[in-house]
Amino acid sequence: MEAVSTSWCKPILSVLPSFLVAVSACAQMSFEAQRNALADEIERDVRETRSYTGRSRLDAAVMDAIRTVPRHDFVPAEFRDFAYVNRPLPIGDGQTISQPYIVALMTDLAEVGPGSTVLEVGTGSGYQAAVLAEIVDHVYTIEIIGALGRGAAATLERLGYDNVTVRIGDGYLGWPEHAPFDAIVVTAAPDAVPPPLIEQLKVGGKLVVPVGPVGRGQSLQVLEKTPDGDITTTDVLPVRFVPLTRD
Ligand code: SAH
Repeated sequence: MEAVSTSWCKPILSVLPSFLVAVSACAQMSFEAQRNALADEIERDVRETRSYTGRSRLDAAVMDAIRTVPRHDFVPAEFRDFAYVNRPLPIGDGQTISQPYIVALMTDLAEVGPGSTVLEVGTGSGYQAAVLAEIVDHVYTIEIIGALGRGAAATLERLGYDNVTVRIGDGYLGWPEHAPFDAIVVTAAPDAVPPPLIEQLKVGGKLVVPVGPVGRGQSLQVLEKTPDGDITTTDVLPVRFVPLTRD
């Protein structure tokens, strides 16, 4: 059973009026009920954005993962009660956990299944890695900020995700020892797609990556490697991600 929490409502409502509707609706709900309401909201968002994404629903396995992974365990304690609002949230070190709709969409775009091995660049809180881990065989994830990577590894271990391996390092370079990958999901934005990641993608595999400078329009792109080694690129949606930084 998950705890019902209401004590936070009053002070938060006074300082964050834009959250009013979602927060007041959540105030009496368990985390599990909030998570299911969030999944319903994501399904509505997906329908509303279908002219961009070309899909009016996401894979059932993706939505099951969203309904399963306890996002409140991946956010800092002071933001726990906002964990199921469909927004990004601060996770420390100037970084954010992505908006749940975007996590669901990127997971869907990766087109992975039970036998897949996936690389994630930008572990952050570990939430996206956990969502992937619900679906695939193994997730390798790289985080450049040591404290975040160690925190995510601890959370994932505590929650029993034994099919996720976290490494501290520069994800621009990928993880050649475990390549090629069925899919690569990048959750920080480079100015251009890193060539090592294209190299480490399997034929038929998907590289899901937000591309472009911070504050000047980024595009969520899906790259696919064709059997003759060519790369096709599809622009899916305008997005806003933190930058991919280098060591
Ligand atoms: N997927 C995360 C979202 C993290 S935000 C989650 O579910 O919470 C993006 C993360 O990418 C940040 O933690 C940032 O430190 C990290 N990052 C930025 N540049 C990186 C790089 N070159 N290699 C690995 N991680 C990087």
